[in-house]
Amino acid sequence: MIALKTKTELARMADACRISAEVLLRAGEVIAAGMTTKELDTILREYILSCGAKPSFLGYGGFKGSACISINDEVIHGIPSKKRVIAEGDIVSVDVGAYYRGYHGDNAYTYRVGEVGKEADALLSVTEEALYRGIAAAQPGNRIGDISAAVQGYVESHGFAVVRQYVGHGVGQELHEDPEVPNFGKAGHGPRLLPGMTIAIEPMVNAKGSGIRVLPDGWTVKTESGSLSAHFEHTVAITTSGPQILTKV
Ligand code: MG
Repeated sequence: MIALKTKTELARMADACRISAEVLLRAGEVIAAGMTTKELDTILREYILSCGAKPSFLGYGGFKGSACISINDEVIHGIPSKKRVIAEGDIVSVDVGAYYRGYHGDNAYTYRVGEVGKEADALLSVTEEALYRGIAAAQPGNRIGDISAAVQGYVESHGFAVVRQYVGHGVGQELHEDPEVPNFGKAGHGPRLLPGMTIAIEPMVNAKGSGIRVLPDGWTVKTESGSLSAHFEHTVAITTSGPQILTKV
């Protein structure tokens, strides 16, 4: 069932989403070569708590971090670790959510640490633009497939591949709600977008091939080919006047 939010509910959800966006700004300020992913996670958790919010991901399905931090060929769900040191030239995706007054925000950004290679730079630019192409397609009256096709078409036109086993989702009182928002699909198909729907649009894009594998830790998802992967995400409300990005400051 797809939950439609009232204007009052959307305003409350916007607060949770704004905090989530601030957490990513904080990540961008502090991320640096030499830092462990655990150190970064701790800084982000403390920021969330200082806002009077709770980290949406901490304890979710037993997850041991406040943020998923995934480096280079890791696609998503990297577990913060004292042993994992961020290095110059890495691309680091941070996926994080804040739960505040009954609602979740969910967003992700992939950071360039220092100078990154040409392919990494292109992958990040294409994945971020794919997110905005998806958001632009999130018009009331359109369908989920319009978002999916916009993301997939843009990514594949640049020779990269969307991940298929993991998808975007509805978000609100629960971190993961209906509907699923795949990064591949056909325009004109899927559930219709209605005002009051709130969805996380989140392209996960591999430089080579859509294949992935899950590590024995049960969480970390890597590309099958060993190629780089990027992830960008916003929580978006469908409104009568078009898509509204909630995860912004
Ligand atoms: Mg998400």
